[in-house]
Amino acid sequence: MFSGDFEFVPLDPADKEEPTTDIPAGTRLYLHPDDWYHPNGNDPTYFRYVIVSVAHTDTATATETSVWIVGHELKCTSPDTENHTPCVEIRVKRDAITRSIRAATK
Ligand SMILES: [Zn+2]
Repeated sequence: MFSGDFEFVPLDPADKEEPTTDIPAGTRLYLHPDDWYHPNGNDPTYFRYVIVSVAHTDTATATETSVWIVGHELKCTSPDTENHTPCVEIRVKRDAITRSIRAATK
């Protein structure tokens, strides 16, 4: 009989659409209220437009469904200033990121 290290891994239909892992700086995210949240806050969420500075897609902090996004509001007046601490730090659903990137590249 065939045996050994080989392990059959069935194709998962859910894997057809790879989650977006490449989120470059400068990516613009248009977020619906339920696309993002802050784990430490109970504030109501709202529509917002965010420009990505850093997307923490590393496995230590990212999950299958959301990643930490650090960046700036679109209306931020000093997004390029080194001394300006990014004014946005939220968790964003991957679905929303993928949607925003696809919308931008159409
Ligand atoms: Zn800012």
